[in-house]
Amino acid sequence: MKIAVLAGDGIGPEIIAQAVKVLDALRRDGLELELEHAPYGGAGYDAHGDPLPEPTLKLAKQADAVLCGAVGGPQYDALPRAQRPEQGILRIRKALGLFANLRPAFLFEELAGASSLKPELVAGLDILILRELTGDIYFGEPRGWRTNARGEREGYDTMLYSESEIRRIAEVGFQAALKRGRKLCSVDKENVLETSRLWREVVKDVAKNYPQVELSHMYVDNAAMQLVRNPKQFDVIVTGNMFGDILSDEASMLTGSIGMLPSASLDANNKGLYEPAHGSAPDIAGRNIANPLATILSAAMMLRYTFNLEAAARRIETAVKKVLAQGYRTADIHATEMRRVGTGEMGDAVVVALKT
Ligand code: NAD
Repeated sequence: MKIAVLAGDGIGPEIIAQAVKVLDALRRDGLELELEHAPYGGAGYDAHGDPLPEPTLKLAKQADAVLCGAVGGPQYDALPRAQRPEQGILRIRKALGLFANLRPAFLFEELAGASSLKPELVAGLDILILRELTGDIYFGEPRGWRTNARGEREGYDTMLYSESEIRRIAEVGFQAALKRGRKLCSVDKENVLETSRLWREVVKDVAKNYPQVELSHMYVDNAAMQLVRNPKQFDVIVTGNMFGDILSDEASMLTGSIGMLPSASLDANNKGLYEPAHGSAPDIAGRNIANPLATILSAAMMLRYTFNLEAAARRIETAVKKVLAQGYRTADIHATEMRRVGTGEMGDAVVVALKT
């Protein structure tokens, strides 16, 4: 089981080091994992002049799974678009065919007080947002700037989904719902967008093969509202790239901190790229205060989805729950009566909890 480890920029190296500690502990217990590191994002640009250097892409293709930190930083903001760290993310997703992005929004009961919503609205929250990752307005052509007939500049993008792209993400959605609460909510903007009209029709068609799953449809504006009004009504949400980008960040806040949320991006064979839902947090990089739990939980998702090691995945998740119950908190989830710890100490605490 070979894992490409791409730490990236900002807090990336600090949080990845904690996930590696946890995986190393499992290796000592006999799990046969091979880890190989490579530069990516701004670090890739610094080393090779490219946010996704050829050797890194080669390693990612050879590996069974990819574990990433995060990329980006103000020092790269002035670079031409093709060299910006974030291009590394888009390119690796495309190159590996990672079309399904799974973002669980799960509230550890110990953190109910850290949510921006009232505890009773979020207690027991466990939803999965499934975002299509390789299509939609982020990739549709044509796109660009032009000058219109009045001599004024216009910017334009193309929202585009093919039937097969909708069908394959819908399949993942129904399959995920089958393994969970058997409810799937498809989010679109069918009242105004042609893309969404096709989306809804295809999702309904796929639903015919899944009579056990209760399918509903919701407009994205309503979904944004329902996520803060009554988030527990959802089980699995499936949606396109742009709507999913926004809704998954919104859902992350329900769980207290973006520092708690893992994510997985899968191809058609469950090869995956696993990374925290947050970015490289340059504002806190190098200070040993970032929360590493999202990255550690991403490693757990990797064991579950790519390697089918459910017991090992649960072992990590249980260890995380244990350290939270013991009162360990990084700054982002800290409350006065708790034990405030740094990034490294949190990683160490999870390793200790794995054994008890
Ligand atoms: P961000 O997620 O990096 O940070 C937003 C806020 O959350 C900041 O205040 C940060 O300190 C805090 N935060 C994030 N992760 C945390 C953690 N683990 N522990 C504690 N606090 C945490 O988003 P941003 O500030 O909009 O972007 C910063 C950089 O990250 C940009 O260059 C952006 O392009 C990049 N980015 C990368 C990815 C990725 O690599 N997948 C995703 C989003 C943003």
